[in-house]
Amino acid sequence: MLDLINHVVQISSRRDRTEINSAIVDALQHLFHPRETTIYRCYTGARKPMVYTCAAYGAAGKVLRNAYLPDKKHCFALERDALLQRCRREKSAVLDFLADGSHRVIFPIMHLDEPIYMIDLTLSDQFSGDERVTLMGLIEYFGNHINLLDYGETDTLTGLASRKTFDKHLFELLGQAAADPQSNGTSPSRRRGASDAPHWLAVCDIDHFKQVNDTFGHLIGDEVLIMLAQAMRRAFRFDDQLFRFGGEEFIALLQPTDEADALAVLERFRSDIEQQPFSRVGRITISIGLSALRSNDTPTDVIDRADEALYFIKHHGRNQVACYEQLVAAGAIAAKEIAKGEVELF
Ligand code: GH3
Ligand code: MG
Ligand code: MG
Repeated sequence: MLDLINHVVQISSRRDRTEINSAIVDALQHLFHPRETTIYRCYTGARKPMVYTCAAYGAAGKVLRNAYLPDKKHCFALERDALLQRCRREKSAVLDFLADGSHRVIFPIMHLDEPIYMIDLTLSDQFSGDERVTLMGLIEYFGNHINLLDYGETDTLTGLASRKTFDKHLFELLGQAAADPQSNGTSPSRRRGASDAPHWLAVCDIDHFKQVNDTFGHLIGDEVLIMLAQAMRRAFRFDDQLFRFGGEEFIALLQPTDEADALAVLERFRSDIEQQPFSRVGRITISIGLSALRSNDTPTDVIDRADEALYFIKHHGRNQVACYEQLVAAGAIAAKEIAKGEVELF
């Protein structure tokens, strides 16, 4: 009993997802001795549902990965695992008996009728009724904690990540997350892998949105923002991070890719929006400014560069995508001075 309470205290004291995953893996291991434990983060957008193995315990010991940055090497399509797929379909715990007499049980953590996490346990022992109730209670508690965390990090209108979480995501990417020991010493360039392509940051801003509000009213304006967020989820990959940054400004943090691919993705998004009817409003357009993340960037540096490209577009006809690096190379805008050696406070 005391052990259980100690573990609950450990989980409840954390706000960082990677640390919370670590604490639930420890709790499950110490209290129930599963042969294997896997924590999946689920990405169930419009495209193929994906899962990311963000924490695990097994023969190789404990494995902990940054829960904020899905690592492609450890992501796979949910349909590849029949039991995970069944868990998603049934929206409840599912059980399978293995040939060696052990059993595998998967618990979903649900939000809005979709699993957001799954906890996968392989157990050798049969549990008493009390133990089963304790296990289910602990997992339900973990789910409540995750849902509360999500609630605090999500923009209530659009359901995208809020501005509050943006800095954390960017710091993680930049390898500057002092609070997260997982990312210490891991420079962004090492994360890029063999291709060495950079991450990209895109600022998307609705053109003449004030007119939408003035003509149709604020409620219809809000509806446009919700529809835009939905279109954004459809346009980007599951592991690209999407944020509502301000009123009618959205940010996409793209996984490493080359400039042409980043531009192609954003151009397709821009064109999707131009073609999609927005209920009573009809057509709207967006302008997008883009810049590559550099290893010595602060969040303000990269946003400033993407903003420069966005302002350029706003003064050159709107409804386009512009890349800061291309504009500088073409002499259309001057390169921004980067103050080296200065410490920036946020
Ligand atoms: P531009 O093409 O230069 O971007 O013009 P704009 O009118 O979109 O730009 P501006 O920044 O002047 O106006 C943004 C407007 O967005 C102002 C405000 O009325 C509206 N807005 C900001 N937040 C919200 C929101 O949460 N809901 C609604 N409905 N409107 C919002
Ligand atoms: Mg704006
Ligand atoms: Mg605008």
